[in-house]
Amino acid sequence: MTEIKKQKKPRGKVRLIPGKCIACGARCQSICPVNGIEMNEAGEPYIDIPKCIGCVKCVKACPGSALEIFYTPEELAILAEMEHTAGLADEQVDEEEMLLREKLAAYRGVWVFIEQTEGEPARVSWELLGAGKELAAKLEVPLSAVVIGSNVERLCNEAFAYGADQAYLLDSPVYLHYRTEPYLEALCHLIEKHKPEIVLMGATGMGRDLAGAVATRVGTGLTADCTGLGIDERRNLMQTRPAFGGNIMATIMCDRYRPQMATVRPQVMPMPERRPVADGPIIRSSFRVSENDIFTRVLEIIHDRKGDGAVDITGAEFIVSGGRGLMAKDNFSILQELADELGGVVAGSRSAIDAGWLPAERQVGQTGRTVRPRIYIACGISGAIQHLVGMQDSDTVIAINRDHEAPIFEVATYGIVGDLFQVVPALTEELRNLRQKSTQERH
Ligand SMILES: Cc1cc2nc3c(=O)[nH]c(=O)nc-3n(C[C@H](O)[C@H](O)[C@H](O)COP(=O)(O)OP(=O)(O)OC[C@H]3O[C@@H](n4cnc5c(N)ncnc54)[C@H](O)[C@@H]3O)c2cc1C
Repeated sequence: MTEIKKQKKPRGKVRLIPGKCIACGARCQSICPVNGIEMNEAGEPYIDIPKCIGCVKCVKACPGSALEIFYTPEELAILAEMEHTAGLADEQVDEEEMLLREKLAAYRGVWVFIEQTEGEPARVSWELLGAGKELAAKLEVPLSAVVIGSNVERLCNEAFAYGADQAYLLDSPVYLHYRTEPYLEALCHLIEKHKPEIVLMGATGMGRDLAGAVATRVGTGLTADCTGLGIDERRNLMQTRPAFGGNIMATIMCDRYRPQMATVRPQVMPMPERRPVADGPIIRSSFRVSENDIFTRVLEIIHDRKGDGAVDITGAEFIVSGGRGLMAKDNFSILQELADELGGVVAGSRSAIDAGWLPAERQVGQTGRTVRPRIYIACGISGAIQHLVGMQDSDTVIAINRDHEAPIFEVATYGIVGDLFQVVPALTEELRNLRQKSTQERH
């Protein structure tokens, strides 16, 4: 085997340009790292060529520009060859870039996977159509809904109402219940055939399962749990999500593969307005997965319905939320009273949940639920970033905290610096009085 040695770039040697030395006082001699310069009586340098390493320090230091680098004919030949090779490498890079751009340009359009369970659509799918509409407008491409299920054509029409321009429909009994294999095959088939540039899914149990499987199969990137989506000047999807335990927001891009895939948690994107009259083309696909090729069977569906006391904080319009400042479980009764007055629900920070003061499904934040109520009242909550990412898009945030420097005030619409044990009951009382007054006025 022949060893291919990498050619070293010649550095040349230093020489004096006759008549240019100004006898500055031996600056070149003092800077030379190899003692390769002697001075003559006239104060001009004599270069000891074998010692010179071509470091150019003396050339740079010379105030009269009296020193220069020169190359032997062999060195000049090597330099010429190197320049030629570098030019070829540049051409190759340009060609690769062109091929990549061509590959990416073959993918066009924004898709939203419409999640449904037994025909019931997940609200996050409509939220994603709202976000997808903005992305599609920026890219000047259609927004498509992808509906997979059994007897689910009406969901295409519903998707048009929430902004989809067209819908891909795969309707067959084999897709009745969600199973990874048939849904994976179906979605990959559509992606390979129609080549969308962006595919969005809800960061739900189903969305997380399917998105990961699809991204692996089609060989692209996936950003989970995005909190923000945008488009850069090269048509790349900018996918923003919390990173490093929520301490920073990272914007991730998948600039060499298509489609770009992202999941977004429910409630993160605003719900778009429903258009009462909307229509669009439905692109039907007869692609079927044979039941014999699927390893899983759904034998029975057992609904995980919670008892009557279960509360879904993600749909609440008014949320009174408590943190460590509440001090004890029993103290949450004052929040409940305020929530009752408002017709809202009680939620909490992770500290409150970890302390066992509230059930886990009431946690707001990065590892809890994302909420977007009309009013979010944060009581005794400091406002850690992991909490803020779950509530900062509420229409109005009212923060009650006795520490005027608490970070929660940075996202608050109204801030009350004070003891929550005085402020919360006072608010409840005031609301009660207002209600009574308006009832009396009506009678
Ligand atoms: C990976 C990771 C994920 C996380 N996920 C979440 C999450 O999903 N949700 C979440 O909330 N946290 C989450 N956290 C925890 C988060 O970092 C904070 O520790 C937590 O939010 C703090 O809760 P807190 O504001 O209730 O408590 P503290 O930070 O202790 O704040 C209590 C506040 O109450 C105020 N206070 C005390 N007494 C009173 C009073 N009498 N009147 C008025 N104010 C008072 C204090 O001034 C203080 O500001 C996560 C952390 C990590 C590392």
